[in-house]
Amino acid sequence: MVVELIAVGTEILLGNIVNTNAAFLSEKCALLGLSLYYQTAVGDNEERLAETLKTALGRSDVVILSGGLGPTQDDLTKEVAAKVMDMPLVDDPHTRRRIEEYFKNIGSKVVTDNNWKQALVPKGSKVIDNKNGTAPGVIMEKNGKIAILLPGPPNELIPMFNNDIFPYLNSLQPEIIYSEMVKICGLGESLVETQITDLIQKQSNPTIATYAKAGEVHLRVTAKAKDSKEAKKMVKPVVKELKERFGRSVYTTSESVTLEDTVIGLLKDKGLTLTTVESCTGGLIAARLTKVPGVSEVFKQGLVTYSNRAKRKLLDVKKSTLKEYGAVSEKTAKEMAKNGAFITGADVCISVTGIAGPEAVEDKPVGLVYIGCCYKNVVTVKEYHFNGERDKIREWATVHALILMRECILEG
Ligand code: ATP
Ligand code: MG
Repeated sequence: MVVELIAVGTEILLGNIVNTNAAFLSEKCALLGLSLYYQTAVGDNEERLAETLKTALGRSDVVILSGGLGPTQDDLTKEVAAKVMDMPLVDDPHTRRRIEEYFKNIGSKVVTDNNWKQALVPKGSKVIDNKNGTAPGVIMEKNGKIAILLPGPPNELIPMFNNDIFPYLNSLQPEIIYSEMVKICGLGESLVETQITDLIQKQSNPTIATYAKAGEVHLRVTAKAKDSKEAKKMVKPVVKELKERFGRSVYTTSESVTLEDTVIGLLKDKGLTLTTVESCTGGLIAARLTKVPGVSEVFKQGLVTYSNRAKRKLLDVKKSTLKEYGAVSEKTAKEMAKNGAFITGADVCISVTGIAGPEAVEDKPVGLVYIGCCYKNVVTVKEYHFNGERDKIREWATVHALILMRECILEG
């Protein structure tokens, strides 16, 4: 089956927003085993959008459009699709009720007239509820062709695609696709690949695909089968084998779980509290951890102690340590973690001090980072040498702080 993408929005053509929906949708289509040959971006212009959609429907079986479903004048995707596919717009009472509810829930007393435009849907189409906004998604099927209309904002499009469109597209194919993700942290991509060369070489169905991220490698195991029960059965032994090979380095087999989710989960399970004391990462670790809902149960405090004075005053790092070994040293990282735990009364304290560049400091090279973790009064400090630009070094340091914290808690 051939699928094609159209991103609607003048903002995309002007470079004001990046077309991340295309990247997301392309990856999902590849995962579904669909062939994708064209992606287009087109402005909020009726004629050009109609022409683009006609061309796409002429050469592809499924066309996925994103954006332009909102309430304003320039949102015209549904109107254009209705004309091109000759499926006139009709009022959808169900969506009308949902819009009413949505505004009630957000405490808004006035629903402006233009919002009711979103309750119109092409006659005979399937309506997909939008759980994070007002504009519903729409699936239009006609003469063997399909157009799928999705809202532009990624926080609306992504859950809608995952919950409704993915299973819909999967059901159209003779064989369905099922996959699970084995997420590994703390091992490099080449090491991971070497340890599964035999599995990769003999793979056909299921397949194993590797994705490298900073400090992590994700392995996607995908099976094709006549139904999902069969596909799950095929994926299961491969996931089990990968878990055995990588042991504790596997932190989850769930697609939606992140490293920070895992660390917070671990702290919660063990009833531990946490403090972060950061220098070169400037709060990035605290920011990643506080993305996790419910983190307040475990996260006490995050300190950014950038200057030597802050390290001394707030964390009691000895003047002599800073003088003799420097701010970027094993000793300083150790004192930061130990004192941070003591001063804030946390069970776990993670510390980071390093040189993010571009200039070397104290004759120490760019990329040198020390990460300390104090757990049960024992401090583990590790030395790292990260490559790359300032942003990359700070990102790697952040990930490795999470990895070290996980290791210390699992081992301790
Ligand atoms: P709304 O109801 O918010 O108007 P919409 O479905 O009409 O939603 P647009 O008006 O086209 O969508 O875009 C709304 C916002 O969604 C954009 O400002 C942008 O932040 C985001 N967005 C739209 N298209 C894309 C895209 N292709 N990639 C990433 N983000 C996008
Ligand atoms: Mg809009």
